[in-house]
Amino acid sequence: MLDKMNRRRFLNALGVLSAATVGRRAWAVPGSDKHSSWSGKIKGLGESGNVYEELGLTTVINGQGTMTYLGGSLMRPEAEAVMKLASLHFVNINDLEAAAGKRIAAMLKLPQGYSALVTSGAASAIQNGYSGILTGSNETHIKQLPDVTGLKSEVIVQKAHRSPWNHQIRATGVKIVEVETVADVQNAISERTAAMHFLNLADPDGQIKREEWLKLAHAANLPAFIDAAADTPPKSHLWDYANMGYDLISFSGGKAMRGPQCTGLLIGREEMIGNALLNMSPNEDTLGRPTKVGKEEIVGMLKTLELYLAEDQEALTKQQWRQLDTIANAVSKIAGVTIARHVPKIANNFPTIQIHLDPSKFSIDAGQVNRQLASMKPSIVLGGGEHHGNSTIQITAIVLRPGQDRVIADALSTVLRQHRV
Ligand SMILES: *Cc1c(COP(=O)(O)O)cnc(C)c1O
Repeated sequence: MLDKMNRRRFLNALGVLSAATVGRRAWAVPGSDKHSSWSGKIKGLGESGNVYEELGLTTVINGQGTMTYLGGSLMRPEAEAVMKLASLHFVNINDLEAAAGKRIAAMLKLPQGYSALVTSGAASAIQNGYSGILTGSNETHIKQLPDVTGLKSEVIVQKAHRSPWNHQIRATGVKIVEVETVADVQNAISERTAAMHFLNLADPDGQIKREEWLKLAHAANLPAFIDAAADTPPKSHLWDYANMGYDLISFSGGKAMRGPQCTGLLIGREEMIGNALLNMSPNEDTLGRPTKVGKEEIVGMLKTLELYLAEDQEALTKQQWRQLDTIANAVSKIAGVTIARHVPKIANNFPTIQIHLDPSKFSIDAGQVNRQLASMKPSIVLGGGEHHGNSTIQITAIVLRPGQDRVIADALSTVLRQHRV
């Protein structure tokens, strides 16, 4: 017979006991259950509180932005706590994705017939979204990708919308067909065309704008995909493009929304979302099997959305300007420095300062300043430099922690003063 505690654990393993009946204590007692929350003292890796230093790495004060190569962003503690809860049970991942899609559709008030999928980044949302467009729910077709024999085999993109993430479109086996004008689009559309792709941040650069691109696609009965990965804030972008009629939309979870670094969202028409899921993990013998997203990340992304939607964006913007002003005020006292405040219209739409160095006043260019700061401990990584004509340093406060503005202000002022001519 099961004694009381064992019975509890047994029912718990079956998922019978609700969180309320189990309570916190059952999980919090160290050693009571090897899957319970850890509340002891960490030994070995993590002992010092800084795992990166223990691994011999230098941590970064990140004034560049939500860069994947630097770790994306820092998660909210509340989302981390909910991810921990997600790690305590097994669950059917396909069912979890379906439930997540429903929850996201409700949170974002998506139009009727729209759903969503948590993916391993926006890049994976792109690849799996296109796989689904090509294969539908046909199992033979799903297994054959990236061989597109007998399937549609081309995706139309504007030349000005070329991006590294076109690689994820090509990964499905299709060819990219580049166009510039409306006439080009009309010539390019054929029975081989699978879809039309739009890179949201390139909207100002292409001849065909967002709404016209969508109209052209739908007039030809083609699905329209929009990659809006770095285009939150504003929050409204999360539903704007669905409301406009785009069939599939990709977002990054680990950028300004501050979700788990390896998450993304594919938002779109229910059937296409379902077909994208059929082409990815946990489903075997699929092109997207390596794009695994775990139960913890799926739940972490949901919690992140909930917290992000409730966030006071105006207050955050003000706080970012305050941090950037600390830096601007310090370095603007140095002769030869001019500062511009800037908010990109689309993509990374948050406060940014550009620090311009008069080349005749300094013995060092912006790229060299950035390299010198990056070699410090902790390393200070700023934007601009070589990427911006080498006379401008660009800084955002989107992922700066309190006090780091002061550290950047002091270090940057010191380096600039040392190299005044
Ligand atoms: C960052 C980015 C991606 C890739 O997003 P991940 O979430 O890192 O996979 C795709 N497209 C654009 C425009 C991006 O900015």
